Amino acid sequence: MKITDIKSYLVEAHRRNWVFIEVETDKGVTGVGEATIEPFERTMVTLIEDYKRTVIGKDPRAIEYLWEDRYRGQFLRSDLLVNVALSAIEIACWDIKGKALGIPCYELFGGPYRETVPCYGNYWFMKTRMGSTTVGEYAESAARAVENGFSALKWSPFGYTAHAMSPQQENIAVECVRQVREAVGPNVQLMVDAHGRFDLPQARRLAQRFEEFDLYFMEEPLPPENLNAYVELKRSTRTPIATGERYVARHQFRELLEKYCCDYIQPDAIYTGGMNELRKIAAMAEAYYCPVVPHNCNGPVCTAASIHAAACMPNFRILEYIPVPEREDVLIEPLEMKNGAFSLPTKPGLGVELNKKVFDQYIYKPRDLDHFDPVREIVL
Ligand SMILES: [Mg+2]
Repeated sequence: MKITDIKSYLVEAHRRNWVFIEVETDKGVTGVGEATIEPFERTMVTLIEDYKRTVIGKDPRAIEYLWEDRYRGQFLRSDLLVNVALSAIEIACWDIKGKALGIPCYELFGGPYRETVPCYGNYWFMKTRMGSTTVGEYAESAARAVENGFSALKWSPFGYTAHAMSPQQENIAVECVRQVREAVGPNVQLMVDAHGRFDLPQARRLAQRFEEFDLYFMEEPLPPENLNAYVELKRSTRTPIATGERYVARHQFRELLEKYCCDYIQPDAIYTGGMNELRKIAAMAEAYYCPVVPHNCNGPVCTAASIHAAACMPNFRILEYIPVPEREDVLIEPLEMKNGAFSLPTKPGLGVELNKKVFDQYIYKPRDLDHFDPVREIVL
């Protein structure tokens, strides 16, 4: 079997554009992958075109060989953009291999360790733009999300703040966590995401003030570059710390684990290098007794890939999930979720197919990240 072509599709979604790919073969079997990377989706389509030259004619079933050949062979490696392209192709190759053998991808990874893949909800508060929602509205939305079946929720209570907060801003953020905790009760797992915005003293103050709310974790309190700062922070608080969504491939996770920088790691299936790389990172983390909570903020093909990999990872705990109901039709059959957990797909390969007929309804729209603004005031 040989790869004959790779096609890319840009699909406008909620707050971002999804990049899907389809790898074609000479045997008529095709595989889907995802290469979403906001805001560089059009750059990614071009990157995939360049990548294509190097994989056409290769056997898509020799996945370890293909991955190593491309990761090492391209010389300049551990780059996020390049690894997203590699991830998409890797995922599509697993899809092809599963379909060729007539089994779901998780059967290729040693079989399922669990029957469902539990998720935490993100974007459950998306009534309005971030920064214009009141503390009380966060609490009401959280209670509604729990009524709708979620038992774990994540959000950012920090508005547009960056680096450090004024006492008033900090009190608003703490009050937001307090009211959400009161609204959902003690048995719901709560997580807050700081998107790497704070300096060390601010991160430490917040993590310590959050201790009374029993958070499952505080995510990226600090920017990702200085791991020693994470070690400092982790030693100073009982609030568990999670990080790792911006790291690429297992080599960048080695130092994170060796230094015990965090309590949870958050590798992303399409940033790290694909399903196998996610599993290899998780296997490495097992030796450090470090649980894995994969990052999954992108589209449904990445979610499917994360489900198959997580199904076979003993130290997997919970998967991020961002519902985008207005785009459910991009898959021919949506992924099945019950009581806040994904069922394992049963069809061969990834078990999802792109519904390309609807793609021309969702035309690419440029969107820019607005996680925080170094000069704007908090408007919680
Ligand atoms: Mg995050």
